[in-house]
Amino acid sequence: MTVSYLKKAPRRAVSDATETRETVQKILAEIEAGGEPAALDYAAKFDRYEGNVVLTRDEIAAAAASLDQRVKDDIRFAHDNVRRFAEAQLKTVGDFQTEIRPGLTLGQKAIPCRAAGCYAPGGRYSHVASALMTVTTARVAGCGHVSVCSPPRPGVGVHPAIVYTADLCGADQILALGGVQGIAAMAFGLFGMPAADILVGPGNQFVAEAKRLLFGRVGIDMFAGPTDSMVLADATADPEIVAADLVGQAEHGYNSPVWLVTDHRPLAEAVMARVPGLIAALPPVNAENAAAAWRDYAEVILCGSREEIAAISDSYAPEHLTVQAADLDWWLGRLSCYGSLFLGEETTVAFGDKAAGTNHVLPTSGAARYTGGLSVHKYLKLVTWQRATRDGARPIAEATARISRLEGMEGHARTADIRLAKYFPDRSFD
Ligand code: NAD
Repeated sequence: MTVSYLKKAPRRAVSDATETRETVQKILAEIEAGGEPAALDYAAKFDRYEGNVVLTRDEIAAAAASLDQRVKDDIRFAHDNVRRFAEAQLKTVGDFQTEIRPGLTLGQKAIPCRAAGCYAPGGRYSHVASALMTVTTARVAGCGHVSVCSPPRPGVGVHPAIVYTADLCGADQILALGGVQGIAAMAFGLFGMPAADILVGPGNQFVAEAKRLLFGRVGIDMFAGPTDSMVLADATADPEIVAADLVGQAEHGYNSPVWLVTDHRPLAEAVMARVPGLIAALPPVNAENAAAAWRDYAEVILCGSREEIAAISDSYAPEHLTVQAADLDWWLGRLSCYGSLFLGEETTVAFGDKAAGTNHVLPTSGAARYTGGLSVHKYLKLVTWQRATRDGARPIAEATARISRLEGMEGHARTADIRLAKYFPDRSFD
């Protein structure tokens, strides 16, 4: 490989897991023991909010009425795309049965979880799109009850656009509850919600840790770290657009890595020259996030060929992967580790994040090596079933008895024997 770093990240995006775990463990235990009053205490402590937690129909209607029609039209447009993509996804998995050998029928059923708990972050930004992505997919998957928790803004409540979105997408209950207290309320079934079977949605390190600690007791979509993005570019890429795309993703947070991988040094240099100016032109808080992310976590990597670019990309397994290079079909065929892929200059990560229709809840921190992002499939349990005729059961019972005895599991073997003895009393044993 002829790989070199024009910019190497001085830091790796690892959180102080121990301290966060201890904090979250304590909050979860207190809310489990203390119930709703304990959750309300944490809402007051962390979000300075003492208002109504379970939103009423009147509050939901008031949130909708407070929004411009243009905003509502945009959210409806995005919802339509996310819903239609999820519906298409749902068709890719389904029930089937097959007679695997004479007299033995095996089957699969895709059964949705009964209750889904969706988290829509709201601390730093108002993540309208997270409500869109989580609630819509849960509804299309067929979950019986869908609740949404989102942090209230101090003294005011959940952002009206999040409330409007959650309601539009079909949430049964919307709660002004953020962080660990929101996750705990959904997992333990507080405030009139059924206890969630699965918890989904992005969030900060406290939210992610709460989901991780509860995993097993409830399902989760994935364990998410800080968001990350990679752009793969060749000589055909426009440096202005590549730089804008990197800065746009660095805005997520101070520890959100962005990486550029290219085989064209002039492009890399042109992008690096443009990034500081684009960051400085952002609003102050966004600029602060992006500047820190660029300084501490960004990398610019120069490769000798597109094959080397692809190999680097697969080794990083980025959450968001953009290709601005010739021969997009080659990249689509070659790349194998990413959460979501954006092919060509005409699309970009923000399109997928907000409105295009693919899901934006995606694997971070290299998890794209082994999983994709949130989809209708995450809410579906692929369960199996079987039934047999007596003749169909015979060879299975005989093999089961022998394998069980080989393993030393005599009780298992006898469940086969008792059937053979009942159905085939004249059978000779080998
Ligand atoms: P958040 O809603 O995740 O967290 C806010 C909550 O954090 C508050 O309600 C509060 O209860 C809790 N909290 C704050 N300080 C605490 C402390 N010291 N101890 C315990 N709890 C505390 O909002 P956020 O903080 O802005 O984070 C949003 C995250 O979601 C970001 O990391 C962003 O990158 C991520 N995100 C990811 C995706 C994706 O698909 N990967 C999409 C959108 C957002």
